[in-house]
Amino acid sequence: MTTVFKFGGASIKDADAIRHLTPLIEAHENRPLVVVVSAMGKTTNKLEALLAAARDEGRRDDYRECLEALQAEHREAIESLFGTSRDSPAERVDTLFDELDAQHRKHRRDTYAKHYDQTVCYGELISTTIVAAWLNHSGIATDWHDARELVRTDACHQAANLDWAATAETVCGRLAQSERVVLTQGFIGGTAEGDSTTLGREGSDFSAAIFAHCLDAREVVIWKDVAGLYNADPRRFDNAVQLKRISYAEATELAWHGAKVIHPKTLGPLQEKSIPLMVRSFETPDAAPTVIDAERRFDADVASCTLRENQVWLEVRPRDFSFMDEPRQHDILGRLVEAGLHANLIDSSAMRFALCLDDKPERLKPMIESLEADYEVARRDELTLLTVRHPRPGMMDTLSEGREALAERRNATTAQRLFQSRECPETWHIPE
Ligand code: ASP
Ligand code: MG
Repeated sequence: MTTVFKFGGASIKDADAIRHLTPLIEAHENRPLVVVVSAMGKTTNKLEALLAAARDEGRRDDYRECLEALQAEHREAIESLFGTSRDSPAERVDTLFDELDAQHRKHRRDTYAKHYDQTVCYGELISTTIVAAWLNHSGIATDWHDARELVRTDACHQAANLDWAATAETVCGRLAQSERVVLTQGFIGGTAEGDSTTLGREGSDFSAAIFAHCLDAREVVIWKDVAGLYNADPRRFDNAVQLKRISYAEATELAWHGAKVIHPKTLGPLQEKSIPLMVRSFETPDAAPTVIDAERRFDADVASCTLRENQVWLEVRPRDFSFMDEPRQHDILGRLVEAGLHANLIDSSAMRFALCLDDKPERLKPMIESLEADYEVARRDELTLLTVRHPRPGMMDTLSEGREALAERRNATTAQRLFQSRECPETWHIPE
């Protein structure tokens, strides 16, 4: 039965990190093994910066500089890994950089989203070319596959939707029997017409789930630079602990509330086929992973905290003395959907409808302008939303001590409070 491994940008960020993959893959003897890889380190961010420069006539020099810097970084890794070996993928990678440059010229006047997908996909195409060459050089028989030919999507650029039937057919047809390691890209797919698409930032986890689903895999392992999933971000909570085992549903809730652990779309395809997901540390591969599967018994064992910063609170009121009834709520939520925004918390009363949103100025501004034409709108900025899953009695109050909650919401499993960011601590502590 197939196993799917996924390595994110941090686990292949430079030559040393890539060297580190060899023993992890060598130790896994069962085939097929499908290895899904992201772009190296922060490459995707750099490709987004390159894209911005490419679309601006006045920034031709910046564009060149960004492109050359990115190419130099990749060359450095290749040089360190292969030296003068004949196995070096240097030429192939240079060709990919030439293609990237050509794609920028070709798509400069296309929509942003289409231009994005035709160029940002090169981060993964390049990283996998290097990693495949490295594995073969290290004696691990590996085949490189272009995920744009395997993962079939529609043309909804930057957030492409999967054609599951077509994807399952190609993935099974091409990968199911492989005796060699299958190495492919996360995050990217392609349309039937041959255009590149992307699945949304951090989408490589989802890619791993797509391959696992199509191949009825035995398990998915996401290799990270941390020891599994935590009940809070260890950089922000001084007593965060590793979660040993949680259900697909719980992991989905945590991701939904802003835990930057697993792309929220990942769990659905795995849950449908009961494929367990392990989150392991590539630094301590023998340590106990976090296991995510159908078992719900352990979900409430520990309370989990997530923070969403840079929040905006909008209070929308009718201009006359009328109600904020369902047709009005429907109208406001419709405008939210149109703006491509998501509410992290909603609160309503007779004459007021309030929303907590991520501060995305380019989307928020037009939506607020449209609301202001019909409603009174009040706005507060620089807020932090705290969400606690399975809070213990009194926990929310201890966490809120000394600061006023601007809004709050609570149900059987989840409590949320919204605070002024400047009143929040740099480092939080989860009460017993
Ligand atoms: N490279 C892409 C990103 O940084 C996809 C991923 O890493 O999952 O968003
Ligand atoms: Mg990443």
